[in-house]
Amino acid sequence: MALTGIQIFKLLPKTNCKECGVPTCLAFAMNLASGKADLDSCPYVSDEARAQLEEASAPPILPVTLGSGVRKRTVGGETVMFRHEKTFYNPPAFAARIASDMPLKELSTRLAGWNALQFERVGLNLRPEFTALKDTSGDAAAFAERARLIADTSEFNLILMSENPDVLKAGADACAAKKPLLHAATADTAADLGAYAREKDLPLAVKAHDLEGIASLTEKLVAAGHKKLVIDAGGADVKSSLERQVILRRLALKNGDRRFGFPTIVFPCDLAASLEVETMIAAMYVAKYGGVIVLSDFTGESIFPLLLERLNIYTDPQRPMTVTQGIYPINNPDENSKVFITTNFALTYFIVSGEMEASREPGWLLVKDAEGLSVLTAWAAGKFSGEDVAEFIKKSGIEEKIAHRNVIIPGYAAAIVGDMEEDLPGWKVMVGPREAAHIAAFMKQDI
Ligand code: SF4
Repeated sequence: MALTGIQIFKLLPKTNCKECGVPTCLAFAMNLASGKADLDSCPYVSDEARAQLEEASAPPILPVTLGSGVRKRTVGGETVMFRHEKTFYNPPAFAARIASDMPLKELSTRLAGWNALQFERVGLNLRPEFTALKDTSGDAAAFAERARLIADTSEFNLILMSENPDVLKAGADACAAKKPLLHAATADTAADLGAYAREKDLPLAVKAHDLEGIASLTEKLVAAGHKKLVIDAGGADVKSSLERQVILRRLALKNGDRRFGFPTIVFPCDLAASLEVETMIAAMYVAKYGGVIVLSDFTGESIFPLLLERLNIYTDPQRPMTVTQGIYPINNPDENSKVFITTNFALTYFIVSGEMEASREPGWLLVKDAEGLSVLTAWAAGKFSGEDVAEFIKKSGIEEKIAHRNVIIPGYAAAIVGDMEEDLPGWKVMVGPREAAHIAAFMKQDI
């Protein structure tokens, strides 16, 4: 169980030196207990006390990393019930289920189709991460063959699902480098699978009919040294499944019960008769509180809205979304192409680059870090001043890419023209449209 603020306070130096940023050790202890402080902020904690306090400073829901490679995901690690209280940290992973008796050719075709489901948004590649290989025949060799095919021919990571530990082990041995999630240890198989997963350093899902059963399993596995656990709380229908997700989150966060402090896996594929309804259920679990969400299939129209929802829900509401400062080529520009500049607020970038693309005219888009503020706000806040923008242009490297010295600034930042021209000798600074909708027409003009 997590320590209370008073229990933590007893382990602190009690000198009230304030170096941790709060006035007293008691205040620091309370912050630590509620997950608002980092133990490392106090330089005077003894090694002995630190060992005891590590449990208190660990997130109430442990983060668990699943898979390997570019589609690896860390799930869990959450500290709040509701996103607006602070933020959600680790987006859930999406998986599509595959039956272990699926013909190999069909499996290859599906993997190729799923692999194509990648979407570029605000500088990010949005894509699903996992396949869930489900044992449907008890044939360990067939299970292993499909696990190997998925691992060898795709970027997808794996969830291996079987009630037979020997089948799971055969599958895991065939795709060991992918660090598959084993689903699932039950009261009967926990000792065997727990030992195997520990030896191979694999994450392990636990499954039981009720919360007591789950608590008993996680307690035993943690005592045996296992921390990479995922909870399958089941639920016969949508209502009971959702209830269990909420109860688990509350027990972990509000009661500080470490036995439930692990990410969960949920199965919309078992709760609906169509992919459309599955997708709606999955959308609910993105917000509440799936760690891994398993669907029966991926299609563009089902996974794209889920990926966008995931991006939105797991964006820190206290920090604006940004894109990386730099030079963005649009429509294959050359040395004579126009140069535009804007701020790194993701929405601004997204709209401006979209309008430039739609014009079909080549151009360079310079994106300046303005702490994620839009143009007008950034200018008003002094983060898009003529001096700063000129300095950025000099250092950006754009001068090596173009033969001219013309730059177009956003209409809302017209006031910085004078300062920019002063700091950018030889450059001509032009004022572009105020509204992005007019960029396409502007790009076609001779300047
Ligand atoms: Fe107390 Fe440590 Fe904070 Fe100093 S830095 S006030 S000793 S908790």
